[in-house]
Amino acid sequence: MAKLQEKVYNALPYPFKFLLLNIKAYQNSKQRYTKDFHKYLAEYIALWDADIDVVSVYQQERLVLLLKEAFLYSEWYSPKMKQLGINDEEIVAEPYKVLAKMPILTKTERKTKYDAIVNTNRPIDGIGYTSGTSGAPTINYLDKESINRSFALWRRFHKAIGLDTQKVRQVRFSGRLIVKPTVKKAPFWVYNYFERQLLMSTYHLTDENLDAYVRKLNRFKPLLIDGYPSAIYIISRFINKNNLKLRFTPKAIAVTAETLYDYQRAEIEKAFNCHVYNQYASSEGSPFITECVKGNLHLNLDSGVFEFIKTDGNIAQPGDVAQLVVTSFTNLKTPLIRYNIEDTVLLKDEGEEVCGCSCKMPIIAKLTGREDDILWTKEKGYVGRMDTAYKGLKGIKQSQIMQNTPDDVIVNLIADEDFTQEMNAKLIHNLQDRLGTTIKYRINLVEHIPLGPSGKFDAVKRNFDIEI
Ligand SMILES: [Zn+2]
Repeated sequence: MAKLQEKVYNALPYPFKFLLLNIKAYQNSKQRYTKDFHKYLAEYIALWDADIDVVSVYQQERLVLLLKEAFLYSEWYSPKMKQLGINDEEIVAEPYKVLAKMPILTKTERKTKYDAIVNTNRPIDGIGYTSGTSGAPTINYLDKESINRSFALWRRFHKAIGLDTQKVRQVRFSGRLIVKPTVKKAPFWVYNYFERQLLMSTYHLTDENLDAYVRKLNRFKPLLIDGYPSAIYIISRFINKNNLKLRFTPKAIAVTAETLYDYQRAEIEKAFNCHVYNQYASSEGSPFITECVKGNLHLNLDSGVFEFIKTDGNIAQPGDVAQLVVTSFTNLKTPLIRYNIEDTVLLKDEGEEVCGCSCKMPIIAKLTGREDDILWTKEKGYVGRMDTAYKGLKGIKQSQIMQNTPDDVIVNLIADEDFTQEMNAKLIHNLQDRLGTTIKYRINLVEHIPLGPSGKFDAVKRNFDIEI
């Protein structure tokens, strides 16, 4: 939602909020779920368990189309491609070779040159705003086909984890401002009638309000809960700690947009008695990586091309933590070709690529998160996956690890009475194990940890640049 619209929306009394949100939802849903959407959905469902050769042929066709359109209609790509001697015939004959020649598109270029990057041959049917870690929004132009395809891929993911292909009753925790941040009394949610979706605020999850959230969930009985894992985790912890009984069991919990930590998964699965499925996509229109019923993360090759680059610029090997460089088929209006999306993944070790589910598309070991949640110290170099630093600790409600310089680390903690001096010492010891003994550590006990841009929770954040 644009800034002004958001302001107007926030100022409205609740019934009008419901009305305004649903008018917008009606328009969105008319645009999203067209005849084409159903056509793409059928196509993607068939590809999910198709032979890998069939998927490869499809991927190649989509890549040819994307490169052709960029070559013909993008002010940004076209001159670059011509300079590299790329032509129409080569795109059709050897699209992967053409792709390998293309320069990497950086995040800064994507953010500042969007007007040049756009494909002028497609209409603007939607505009999205993505706020990055720096807080400045990235404008994202979309055409209808891309909107339909993205929603079809999303629905295919739901089907693959056992949900109906129709819309199911669902609860979403996303960073949207649904009710004013200053509101002290429920409702902290608004129902989107056209998506059958109860939007729950991620900005009101305080101790005083959690009981109201759980009561509402018990009345609503969602089949699917999705959104930010940090928010679902806070509710789960409250449910487990107070031994609350839920009057429903969702069929699936699907998390996205933030790194999912093992401790969050464990707490959420215990509270809801239901599997947590991880999913990677972005509002900028990246290709999808989705978890299957066997718990593996499949690269959705029919949504784009994935490349894995090591931090030193070399091609990543099995077992490496790698930067994701993506070429996307889900945004034809704003073509993303070899885009360094600044997210990292852990690749599988050699010889364990096959999944036992019906999908033949390749798998990776883990979504390791954003590049700026990888820390760096002189002693240990790059350090990711900091959640293991909390191993064996009790009493931590919420925590955040911040590194402002290479020589110090700050941990902001919301803790309860179980977090004793002994726990404090243990945490420092764990941090030293991972980040070294030569830097300074500071543990801050706080009442509240503010959310980052888009309402996402920054569990780990490095605030300085490192040479990559
Ligand atoms: Zn699988």
